[in-house]
Parts: sequence; structure tokens; C-alpha cells
Amino acid sequence: MAADTSRLQAPSQGAPTEAPPSGSPDGEAPDFRALLEQERQELLGKLAELGVGDGQELHYDPNFADSSQVTAERGEVEALAQTLREALDEVERALAKLDEGTYGICEVCGRPIATARLEAKPAARRCIDCASKGKTAP
Ligand SMILES: [Zn+2]
Repeated sequence: MAADTSRLQAPSQGAPTEAPPSGSPDGEAPDFRALLEQERQELLGKLAELGVGDGQELHYDPNFADSSQVTAERGEVEALAQTLREALDEVERALAKLDEGTYGICEVCGRPIATARLEAKPAARRCIDCASKGKTAP
């Protein structure tokens, strides 16, 4: 077999590639898994920046929060980390639900969450109705 050197030359293409992203059915809802994975990576990155992420499981020591020696600065970082962890938790729950096939179902009332809401907040666990009423899952 002769060595194929022709591939070193870029093939001439008339139009730039405009192929639809693979994995998502065309015309359907956006690829929520990709959106969630992206959000997850961002949250993990932010947690790592704070020095509290490190890819470990959710771990929050309540004794730490009770300590009167916690400085304001430390508390601020901890509060931010907690917010990020909660967001990460929601994203991971949503990913798990994608695997289970229950993604997009309100955890409170069991009705489908509007696609527009999921596009705005892919990790949403409640429909707009339950969220606006402040209902939480049992
Ligand atoms: Zn609901």
C-alpha cells in the first residue's frame, strides 16, 4: 500500500460546515444534556477556584458553620461555595433524571415543565407554577 500523502492537502470545500450537532434530533428540544454538562463543568471550575471543590462529593460540615471563629471572609467564601454546591447538586440531579427518563417532570406536581423554562434553566426541578408558589418537593 502506498502512503497516502494526499490528506495533507486540505480538501476544497465550497461551503463552511453547517452540519447540525450530532446527538440531537433536529427541530426538537435543545440538547439539555450538553447544556447541563457545560453548566456542571463551569460550577466545578468555580468550586475549584475557591479551593473547596476538588471533585469531591457534596460535603458540608454543620459544625463548621457553628464555629464562632469563622471569619467574615471565610463565611463569605463558604456561603458562595454552598450556593455553587447547591447549583451543582441540581445539575447532577437533572443529569440523573435524563438517564432515568424523568427529566423535565415537575418534582412537586408531576406535570411536565415547559420547554421554554428548561431552556432558561436546564436544572429546573419544578414547573413555573410550583416554583412561583414556593412549593418544594416533599
Ligand atoms: Zn409543578
